[in-house]
Amino acid sequence: MDTVPVTRTRPTQGGLKKLANWGNYPVIEALEESFASATELKGMLAGAHGTTRVIARGNGRCYGDSSLAGMVVSTLRHGRFLSFTESSGELACQSGVMLKEILDTFVPRGWFLSVTPGTKFITVGGAIASDVHGKNHHADGSFSRYVASMQLMLASGEVVLCSRETNCELFEATCGGMGLTGVILSATIRLRRIATAFIRQETAKARNLAEIMELFEKSATWSYSVAWIDCLSQSGQGGRSILFRGEHASPHEAGGASPLRIPPRHTINLPFFLPAAMLNGFTVRAFNAAYYACATKGAATAIVDYDAFFYPLDGILHWNRIYGRNGFVQYQFVLPKASAAKGLAEILRKISSGGQGSFLAVLKLLGKGENLISFPMEGYTMALDFPVTKKLFPLLEELDKMVIEYGGRLYLAKDSRMGAATFNAGYPNAPEFRRLRGRLDPAGIFGSLQSARLGI
Ligand SMILES: Cc1cc2nc3c(=O)[nH]c(=O)nc-3n(C[C@H](O)[C@H](O)[C@H](O)COP(=O)(O)OP(=O)(O)OC[C@H]3O[C@@H](n4cnc5c(N)ncnc54)[C@H](O)[C@@H]3O)c2cc1C
Repeated sequence: MDTVPVTRTRPTQGGLKKLANWGNYPVIEALEESFASATELKGMLAGAHGTTRVIARGNGRCYGDSSLAGMVVSTLRHGRFLSFTESSGELACQSGVMLKEILDTFVPRGWFLSVTPGTKFITVGGAIASDVHGKNHHADGSFSRYVASMQLMLASGEVVLCSRETNCELFEATCGGMGLTGVILSATIRLRRIATAFIRQETAKARNLAEIMELFEKSATWSYSVAWIDCLSQSGQGGRSILFRGEHASPHEAGGASPLRIPPRHTINLPFFLPAAMLNGFTVRAFNAAYYACATKGAATAIVDYDAFFYPLDGILHWNRIYGRNGFVQYQFVLPKASAAKGLAEILRKISSGGQGSFLAVLKLLGKGENLISFPMEGYTMALDFPVTKKLFPLLEELDKMVIEYGGRLYLAKDSRMGAATFNAGYPNAPEFRRLRGRLDPAGIFGSLQSARLGI
């Protein structure tokens, strides 16, 4: 197995460190501890009592400040497989196991993740705490649907087993609860059977937003779908895009003698931050135009390996440095189906007129939401990257108002700047979540920069 890139060097015990997550914004100084056993973690929580807020941290692949606090407990040393049941596909593992490690071990045996986000460099604990969604949310829901049970350490140091049947209130608050209910120690997750490690991918072009939404609806029977949108283009009323949809390929389609094995991937490393001035309306526009032209020249149907289909960005290590030292914000929101067409068009117009568009604007169709404060709701979610500049935050505040007006909300795993009012308006279960937190953690041991900002 080759190495898994961690967001920083593997932690050692103690000491203040500069820490940031994937957006490189904000950067803070924090005490970072790591644990290999529940006993060690319990000691750390007892030691932190009343001095500072503590939050669990996986691989720091959330974009903002969800896993930043005065004291961060890294789960990366708590990363062992515990058991695997071949008949049900149930894998029990510690929370610091990375999705990449699961894929490397289980794809050759005919198993795949039931839900995966757009990077495999995240931990199982992080996947549960953000309740991550993939390209199949419209069909299969989010990560938590495949969590049979988990062990959680509460602020008191007590370890509690929870599932949809046992301590279900705690389970539903922890899935999507951004580490605020406790530290997930281990989980049992259900994998899905696959016959090959390949995907039959189809691409389709849309000239505008109305066309891409129609394509999504027509593709609802496909397991996976995602679209890339050129949010700076105003041709054809804006929103020219490319839809990628996919199904697990059969052995016949995949061909070859070992259809569960994929060729080793060649990764590129971006070794330093690029100067922020390289990224401007002109370069982004040029990139988007070139990408659109290239992507639509290729075959409409292709057999691609799972790395290429699910994790295209993982091929460039540290691609986040392209946005420069000041970092960037990924702005991800969801709008309910009924208001999505009008709302997305208005939001895209606003972004295009601001000229601060992004390399990556991604659109996905989401199914029904679950859990207390998980992000997904039935509708369309869009994610856009913006380099941090002085002009950015006023623009995002205007977008926040539009998202709320159209009945949507922002994704906590991508956030580093929304205000409490935006959070409260988007998450109707916020009061219930706060009450539960008050009961579970009366001394307020757990907390992140984000939870302090949002008052949760
Ligand atoms: C390139 C890229 C693509 C992405 N694509 C998607 C996508 O398609 N869909 C999607 O949903 N997300 C996506 N994400 C976001 C990412 O999947 C989530 O932010 C995920 O939570 C990161 O996990 P992590 O292990 O790095 O945890 P961190 O980023 O360190 O932490 C994330 C949250 O989980 C909590 N946490 C971590 N471990 C534990 C634990 N053991 N117990 C309790 N709480 C814990 C932290 O406190 C924090 O609140 C993407 C991120 C990147 C960089």
